[in-house]
Amino acid sequence: MTDVTTDARTAGGRGRLSRLLAIGWPYLAIVLYTVAFSAIVMAQVDYPEDLNEAGARSSPRVAITFDDLPWNGPGYSDSEIAGLTDTLLATLTARGVPATGLVTCRGIRDGAPFLRKWIDAGTELGNHSFSHQDLNSTPVDEWLADVRRCDEDVREVVGGPVRWFRYPMLHQGDDRAVRDSVARTLQRWGYSNAHVTIDNSEWLLARAYDIAMREGDEAEAAAIVEAYVGHLREAADHFRGAGRDKFGREVDHVLLVHANAIAARHIGDVLDVLEADGFTIASLEEVLSDPIYARVDEYVGPTGLSWIYRAAPLSPDDPWDDIAEEALAARFRWR
Ligand SMILES: [Zn+2]
Repeated sequence: MTDVTTDARTAGGRGRLSRLLAIGWPYLAIVLYTVAFSAIVMAQVDYPEDLNEAGARSSPRVAITFDDLPWNGPGYSDSEIAGLTDTLLATLTARGVPATGLVTCRGIRDGAPFLRKWIDAGTELGNHSFSHQDLNSTPVDEWLADVRRCDEDVREVVGGPVRWFRYPMLHQGDDRAVRDSVARTLQRWGYSNAHVTIDNSEWLLARAYDIAMREGDEAEAAAIVEAYVGHLREAADHFRGAGRDKFGREVDHVLLVHANAIAARHIGDVLDVLEADGFTIASLEEVLSDPIYARVDEYVGPTGLSWIYRAAPLSPDDPWDDIAEEALAARFRWR
């Protein structure tokens, strides 16, 4: 694609030059200015580090990541969690999905029976902090101690080092000094940021689903499931488009969902629509090898943002996430 652009630019420049010499110098000055300005603009949006095999791929990969392991959602007994975890992992195993699970360590039970199920199913586990503290409102030392505590817990369960960290609420620091010092510390501890691109409001639908199921309202639960699959499909489509807009090609994505009941029963439906739309399911490690994840984090602020927006400083203000969330919150009872 970049080659085509370069050829077109060169050919256009040549055509202009010969026309010009016949017409006159004032026109030449204007055209030279235009050509130079275009070159500057193209140099800014043309990322040379992206011109590798990822750039040549026409269909994007997507990593499936589950947050808040061992379980997200109130009111479930341990035996229900065990059964639903088995259901979820059976789908992932049957389809060969190389999933990643981010653990909120305060939820770990004695002997970590649920996490062991994830490990036995081949899921790689990462750290999502001990008690899900918000970096925007927690002193840095306290926040880091909470992450460290979970590091020890997950290491013990997996029996080795842990390489992925995901920020609670995707809040990475609303102050540049905080953001950078936290990022450096996590790196020193051996962590890579488990970035998210396909951010979404699936958690809200999960709560609505829990309520409907508890009340035995099957019609409502079915409507919520349909909205869940549709919402995640729309989110994937939205951020795929945003990735193409920002980087000029298909980029590889990371989907964030949670370890909850609606995922346990319906993640297969989500995988179906993603694959139907041309995504290939891949591991987090494979996806994060796309050079967009090596780009500089350009965002400092309080919002938990898709990496697409953090890495692309010239992003327009894009309210898709908020609009989708408000529509879902208005349609379903979720609290
Ligand atoms: Zn979380």
